[in-house]
Order: sequence, then C-alpha cells, then structure tokens
Amino acid sequence: MAALNEDFLSELRTLADIESTVSAYVPLKRRGRILTGICPFHNEKTPSFTVYPETQSYYCFGCGSGGDVITFIKNIENLDYIESVRYLAERVGMSMPQERFQSDLYEKRRRMFEANRLAARFFHAALYSPEGKAGLQYLYNRGLSDATIRKFGLGYAPAGWDKLRNFMRQQGFTDLELYEANLLRVRDKNGKKHYYDAFVDRAMFPVLDLRGNVLAFSGRALTSDAQRKYVNTSDTLIYKKGENIFALNFAKKTAKDFLILCEGNLDVISLHQAGFDNAVAGLGTALTERQVALLARYTGAVYLCYDADEAGQKAAQKALRLFESTTLRVKVIHLEGGKDPDEILKKFGAGRFKSLLEGAANDVEYRILRARDGIDVTTDDGKTRFLAAACAVLAELHSPVELDVYAARLSEELGVSKDAILAQTKNITKNRSRYTEKHILREVQSFEKKADKAINIVNPERARHMRAAKAEELLCASLMHNPEFFSQIKEEITAQDFITSFNARVFSEIAAQLIRNGMFSISAAAGFSSEEIGAIARIQTLIPQLANTLAECRDCIKVILEEKAKTAKGAPSELSDEDFLKLFQN
Ligand SMILES: [Zn+2]
Repeated sequence: MAALNEDFLSELRTLADIESTVSAYVPLKRRGRILTGICPFHNEKTPSFTVYPETQSYYCFGCGSGGDVITFIKNIENLDYIESVRYLAERVGMSMPQERFQSDLYEKRRRMFEANRLAARFFHAALYSPEGKAGLQYLYNRGLSDATIRKFGLGYAPAGWDKLRNFMRQQGFTDLELYEANLLRVRDKNGKKHYYDAFVDRAMFPVLDLRGNVLAFSGRALTSDAQRKYVNTSDTLIYKKGENIFALNFAKKTAKDFLILCEGNLDVISLHQAGFDNAVAGLGTALTERQVALLARYTGAVYLCYDADEAGQKAAQKALRLFESTTLRVKVIHLEGGKDPDEILKKFGAGRFKSLLEGAANDVEYRILRARDGIDVTTDDGKTRFLAAACAVLAELHSPVELDVYAARLSEELGVSKDAILAQTKNITKNRSRYTEKHILREVQSFEKKADKAINIVNPERARHMRAAKAEELLCASLMHNPEFFSQIKEEITAQDFITSFNARVFSEIAAQLIRNGMFSISAAAGFSSEEIGAIARIQTLIPQLANTLAECRDCIKVILEEKAKTAKGAPSELSDEDFLKLFQN
C-alpha cells in the first residue's frame, strides 16, 4: 500500500476534528476535558466511550477499542485505511493526493460491488423476460407499479440453479468471487466443489448503500408454502447485517422532517409508491444500535410502524428502548384496521395511513398505553397497579411541563388527585437517581479494571512488571504529546531498555514516526492489530494526567532503567535453587 503524504494526513486530521466527526455517529456529553457517550462498538447502557479532543483520540473503557479519527471511521464505516482517509477527505472537502492506491482488499471490494451491480441488472432483466413471468406477476399482485419496480431495481432470480452463475462467468467473475459475494453457494460432491445460485425462483430486492452501490440482496419466495420465506445475503466484505437501513438512500432526500421505520422491505416499497418517500426498514434482524445511530444522522424524529401482531409490538418496544439513549424523538404508529402498513394502504388507501401518522402516539403515550395491558382499571387493585406502572414511565420525563400534562391526563382518567400522581413519580425518580449514582461509580471502577485486563492481554508482561510498564506507558504518552522532548532524551533510552515487549514496540513506532514526520499518529502505526491499536489509544488517555515536562520523562526513564537492572540481575531462570527459595520467602 502506498504511503500517504504526511502533510496531507496532518491537514486532514486538523480539518476532520474528532469531536465533530464522532458526534455525527454518537451523541456526546462534555465532562470537563473529555466527552463521553454510548459506545457504538459494543452493547452498553451507561457511557464508557470516551473522546479526548486534546489528543484527538478516543477510547472505550468497556470494549478496549480506540484510536484516532481515521481509526474511528475505519471501524464504524467498516472501511479499510485508504477508504477511510478518502471518506474523511471527501467530507471535509479535501482532494486525495494524486497517488495510486492499490490494496488487495480495496480491489476485492471493488470487484464485489461490481458483481452485485451486474447481478442486480441481471435479476431486473430476468423479471421482464418470459421466464420471469411468475415473479412479475407476484410483484403486480402486491400492487407494485412498473415505475416502483424500476425505482427500487426489483428483479427475479430465475429457477434452474445456474442461470446467474453462467451469466456472471461470462462477465469474467470466478466462482470463488461470486461465492464470497454470497451470490453462489457451494456443495461438496465426490470431493469436488460444486457451485450453484444462492437465489433461485425468488423476487429480488437489492439493498443499496447511501451512494447507490448494491450491497446485498433479499430474495422472497413467490408462494407462501416455500420452506424459507426470505433468503438474505449473509455478511460479506461489503455488507454487515445490522449496519444498514433499507431505502435510506431514497429517504435521506425526503423533504419530510421524520422517517417512518417499518419492519419489512415490501412495506417500505408500498409506502414509497403511495407517496411516503420517508419510509425505511431495518434489514431482517432486530434493530441494532448501529442502525439507530445511522438514522440519527439523517433525521430528528422516527415514527415506528411495526406490525400490529404480538411479535411486531414486542419488536417495537425493544426498538423504543434503543432510541431512549439518543436525541431522536420517537412516535409509535398504531396500525388500526390492518396487520401491516401494506395492508392498510390496500384496504383503505393513503389517506388512512396519513391520518394514522397524524394520530401516532409519542413514546410516553404509547408506553402508558402498554402499561395498561392486561389490567382491569375499574378495580381498585387494577387502578393501583396501573398507576404504579404509569408513574414509572413518567419518572423518566425530563420536562416538568410534559410531566404535568400527563399527570393531569391520568388524574382525570382515573379519578386520582394530580398531586398524588406527581408525588409518587417524584419518589420513583429520587430512588432511581440514588441508585444510578452508585451504579455509575461502580461501573467506572469496573471499566478501569476491565480496561486494565484488556491491556494485560495485549501486553502479557505488564502484570508481572507493573512499575516498569506504567513508567513505559507514561513515557510513551508524554512523547506522543510532546514530540519536541524526543531529541533531548533519545540518547538516554532505547526500545531495548524496555521491560515489556509490547511497550518496546510502541516506543519504537513513536520514535520512528517522530524521526520521519516530527509527530505521532495512531492510525499511521503500521503492523499493530486492532486490539493493539486500542491499547495504544489507552496509553494516549494518560496524557491529561501528565505534567508534560522533561523532568517527568527522565523520572520514567529512571524507573525503567532501575527495573531493567533488577530483572537483569534476577531473571528467575538464572537463579540457583537456594536464591529462588529466598526470593519467594521475601
Ligand atoms: Zn465499547
């Protein structure tokens, strides 16, 4: 891979500031010199994801991932290094230097996009060919027009097990490439690999990314008695389930100030056809944090439009919980008179759906409504139970005005005084915040421990040589932040003096970068795994605690050399049995 010009990279890092880049994905709260938020890379409820504007880095105390702005884009957009740089450069309006970047991975991904694009064209053409008759009829039966079919690039995967394979091989793709793109499957036949089409006799829905590239396919059976209703592309080099939103490429252009989130692709397509061009769907799986973060980048409000059945309502409640930690406003559409939006449109038309949108309950109303499920509020006992559940919902409201409105509504409905409702709610809030404070303190401590554990895995010698390792880490952190110190201490210590070999590698990398570019950047560190990059980011988090003086560096060097002298004297293998015993008695 060609090295990128360092001037270009440092300008990019200045323009693509970490705080603004990360906050496009993760809502961040300022806490003094740092910012915290819910980690987008692992599942958590309390924030352990930390951004350091001073060092332009981030680190998660929960999962140990970390790095700089380029590492962040690499991880969150699932791109390789060059693609991440290009992506950031585009965002801040810088043009890439005129070098050719060839990486195997980049080329592989490019081929996969091309294979998917050609496959989508093949499926679309097949739909309008004689063998696609059943597929086209199926889509017509679902009420879709030719214009809609074209807009979404819908298609038909022919029967016969080798139609796509034959076509793609003519286009110069190998079986292995197509298999890796999930367009073919493989079976062992008498020790020989036998490749066949992954999608057979199905209506095909391409999944596009925001730039219009075909990432994946969803193939739907034409009849309801099929063994599998849907066959979907599983994870590939260019597609990860739970990271994309169906039809967001269209919906992001909508003039409406909210998005409608449905369960199924067909719901979305029907809604677009009926004029609701802000409809989107998760893809096959339960909604994920990554998807929620993606939605938050394009809209301020989401209307949940999940199926009216029990499974749909459960999924809606789960989704609501994911939205709680975001700034998105959420409303829930109550699909009265139909099981899904598609059915509402067919039975009653677009006007009905529009009025359902207008009548959508906000999440508080919806949850109070749900709290009532299965409770008979005409009895005293039922009333008490419902009130307790409703107050628990109200206790989460931050706005006193809102709280007052709902308390008044409940009071009127149940014939209980408003003051009593407010008092009960306040009680819950008080207990909860007492709990939360303790909880957060405990979490922070366990994060520190966890982070230590993660570092100890990357640097296995650390636990045995804690004093030396800490001095090594402080020295590295100081040099990252004060590159000008390096020339003054470089005669006093080398990587060979380090006790732990991981820190020695980090020191060598810092030294090499400082000599080459006069500055250190994490994402430019070559030859480190992503866990190791995380550990380097953890070392960077020490910077705010530093005195940033040369004397501090010299103290660290002194400790490292002292510890080195100790280990050189007393490496256990070189001790006599007698000495060995003495050592342990001490
Ligand atoms: Zn994390």
